Amino acid sequence: MFTKILIANRGEIACRIIKTAKAMGIATVAVYSETDRNALHEQLADESVAIGPSPSNESYLVSNKLIQAALDTGAQAIHPGYGFLSENAEFCRLCAANNLVFIGPPVEAILAMGSKSAAKTIMADAGVPLVPGYHGDDQNPEIIKQAANNMGYPVLLKAAAGGGGKGMRAVYAEGEFDEALGAAKREALNSFNDDIMLVEKYLLKPRHVEIQVFCDSHGNAVYLFERDCSVQRRHQKVIEEAPAPGMTDTLRQQMGEAAIKAALAINYEGAGTVEFLLDAQGEFFFMEMNTRLQVEHPVTEMISGQDLVEWQLRVASGEPLPCSQEQLTINGHAFEARIYAEDPDHDFLPVTGRLTVLQPPRESAHVRVDTGVVEGDEVSIYYDPMIAKLIVWDTDRDRALQRLTQALSEYRIGGLTTNIGFLYNLAISQAFQNGDVDTGYIEEHEAEIFRQRDRDIDYAAPLAAAAIFKLREQQAQIQASPFNGAQFTLASVQ
Ligand code: ADP
Repeated sequence: MFTKILIANRGEIACRIIKTAKAMGIATVAVYSETDRNALHEQLADESVAIGPSPSNESYLVSNKLIQAALDTGAQAIHPGYGFLSENAEFCRLCAANNLVFIGPPVEAILAMGSKSAAKTIMADAGVPLVPGYHGDDQNPEIIKQAANNMGYPVLLKAAAGGGGKGMRAVYAEGEFDEALGAAKREALNSFNDDIMLVEKYLLKPRHVEIQVFCDSHGNAVYLFERDCSVQRRHQKVIEEAPAPGMTDTLRQQMGEAAIKAALAINYEGAGTVEFLLDAQGEFFFMEMNTRLQVEHPVTEMISGQDLVEWQLRVASGEPLPCSQEQLTINGHAFEARIYAEDPDHDFLPVTGRLTVLQPPRESAHVRVDTGVVEGDEVSIYYDPMIAKLIVWDTDRDRALQRLTQALSEYRIGGLTTNIGFLYNLAISQAFQNGDVDTGYIEEHEAEIFRQRDRDIDYAAPLAAAAIFKLREQQAQIQASPFNGAQFTLASVQ
């Protein structure tokens, strides 16, 4: 096992990785940009290295700075977290060239799944079911359009290099096709510097169900069940849960085995996620494979009792998987809600500012909060405005959902606008309570989710109480301090 690792990331995921490394007796090195000097991840690590200016393309995305930091501190391996360089084949190669272990899959697996089109060809050859569509090399717009006409509308255009819902356009009729293709290509070129497109049948009301897989270098492969990530806003996940509501043992096994087939087809090692669309008839189709730890991995940890970061570290150091398929079981139900600094009433515009109040619900066997910020920290313009992931667990879905609404109502954040009220309204909406979810859920239930201001009031009252409590606490501290003549005013708390 490694004795020291470097974490090439920031925020909650860097803190999450440090936690497991510490528990395993592995020393940690954090890297930080100017804005992140004194950030939680920098403070939790045993050592830290400054890697330059705040924009990520001058710090967290500069491979050479990260490699140099690892070499200078004597780290043997680099954990890339998610985002940033986690699926960057060049970075993976650079690690190997410098005798550093990349805690992730082999470079060939990253390359194989790096293009949605190439990935589909590999999966079709391996016999994994695909969403019907065209993912060929011939990018002549007329060919793509003909493929769309043949399969019938609606269709979904996707950038082969895409991610985060960018470069995607639904097309409902042939007459809209040319314009949609042009727009999707422009967006893809801007975001990924690559405008290769594929086109798929646009499934109506599917569910997004993904399978967590794990493989080691000894030929072992297991699946750690499924996550339902159907509740999305503009094709981005909002609340995830495990297991998927209504999942049967037979379907779970079929999807799990298809996911393993996908992983083995590319000689996978480490943690990976195979994403499927599941239709109302129980048919499922491969969408893509993410070759990294996912944001929503905690729900899998909560129901399986396994620490996926520990598994990653063991596999990367050459050990076999800690468990066989037969030893893995599902216990209870878990949800994850992503707490963001954003304004749901203004098209979810990201918000920046100081977290003047930050009081998460108390952590317990039922409530877990993964975060990278503390009260007083700034949500800056430079990075993703996620404040925390709230994860809850209980013995069944109803009880877990009760934990979620309770924990959301206890969450106190002041100083900037967040999506907590929106998440709360979503969690209490009737169809969600019934487990009746699909990828169009938020649009379909918009009226119910966005117009429950009376419920928001329940939420706002304790928030105001928290602000007053905080003010008293700070005043008491000021009175007790040698500078007690100083004026103190509380910043506005929303
Ligand atoms: P990205 O990599 O940009 O996140 P994905 O291919 O993973 O894109 O798709 C993101 C989301 O878009 C899915 O979770 C699903 O909700 C929706 N989606 C993707 N493909 C289809 C499809 N063929 N039909 C219906 N919805 C789809």
